[in-house]
Amino acid sequence: MFHSSKIEINKKAFHNNLNYLKNRFGPDVKFSSVIKGNAYGHGIENIVPLAEEAGVDHFSVFSADEAYQAQSCISTNSTIMVMGFVDDAGLEWCIENDIEFYIFDFERLEKTIQLAGKLKKKARIHLEFETGMHRTGIEEHLLDRLISLVLSNLDTLEIVGICTHFAGAESVTNYLRIKEQMKIYNRIIRKIRKLNVPFERLHSACSAAAIRYPRTRLNMVRIGIAQYGLWPNRETFMLDLSSNDKEINDDPLQRVISWKSKVMSTKEVPKNQFIGYGTTYLTNTNTQIATVPVGYSHGFNRSLSNLGRVMVGGKRVPVIGLVNMNMMIVDVTTVDSVQKGDEVVIIGSQKGKDISVGSFSELTNKLNYETLTRLPRHIPRVITG
Ligand SMILES: *Cc1c(COP(=O)(O)O)cnc(C)c1O
Repeated sequence: MFHSSKIEINKKAFHNNLNYLKNRFGPDVKFSSVIKGNAYGHGIENIVPLAEEAGVDHFSVFSADEAYQAQSCISTNSTIMVMGFVDDAGLEWCIENDIEFYIFDFERLEKTIQLAGKLKKKARIHLEFETGMHRTGIEEHLLDRLISLVLSNLDTLEIVGICTHFAGAESVTNYLRIKEQMKIYNRIIRKIRKLNVPFERLHSACSAAAIRYPRTRLNMVRIGIAQYGLWPNRETFMLDLSSNDKEINDDPLQRVISWKSKVMSTKEVPKNQFIGYGTTYLTNTNTQIATVPVGYSHGFNRSLSNLGRVMVGGKRVPVIGLVNMNMMIVDVTTVDSVQKGDEVVIIGSQKGKDISVGSFSELTNKLNYETLTRLPRHIPRVITG
């Protein structure tokens, strides 16, 4: 209540993206919706029910605390998978609640066997292998030791998946590295098959890999950024367009998020006056300004001072002066009769014009991923469309 801005989540756009991606990957590929980072800023509690409406029943998070949050929103037939951090207390909670989680070292495997034994419940695990990213994952040379430990503890373990993660599938520059990762991963799968390890899923692909390298889809994909209507990077988008002979404006993905505020006050400032703190902006002429109650504490980066753009009255208008903690000032001289209370679009569309997450990210030198996940939780999210 009483917030100075709001974030809109467009249900139609989200459903469009899920349908497009699921059709593209086909019926044999399970779709895991990645909802880490507060569902890339969209809000776990908003995205989970909308995804379930569209038939998604698997969700991936980074940590047990995110799983805990997702657990309170999911319906009974959906599954949550933790791809990263779980401490011992979290591990026990995961096992008790049928939350799937990655095993990337022996310490966690041993702890899991011990806790699952104590709880008399099978832990649902995904074995993550090191294939060249060098972040987390079990090295191939430890495979025999790992598998014999797993096979002798099948009363406490259920191997749900065998997985890995690519070190930057969105860039052609990483192609050789990704190819080598695929090779190692496939070799690991062959070895595991030979050892007769029972498992259900093979998964390696994030959005970029699933789009660029269809063979990495296997029987499950972990899709984050694309379901929110954004491409992993521009390169992925351009290559996809050219490979499918589409037109530039045929983007099959639709942005789900918009961020809006309202004009807080307006005034006219004569020429040769500094605007806001300090001396970074001097008016050249009589200038009509509007104050917008959004600043860096709301996630509007201070580096957008004298650089950012917002939309008022269907026009793109520049941020002038420094972005403050809770406010920014914009030059609305070119817009007819701006009134207090008029809509201000920070990300989204207004009268057919658009400020994309991408343009916003570019100006702040950030990835779309970072722009989205930095949107503060305290800004209310509303579902539209
Ligand atoms: C974040 C993440 C994904 C999803 O990545 P997108 O590029 O957003 O699709 C998939 N797998 C792992 C292990 C991740 O950490």
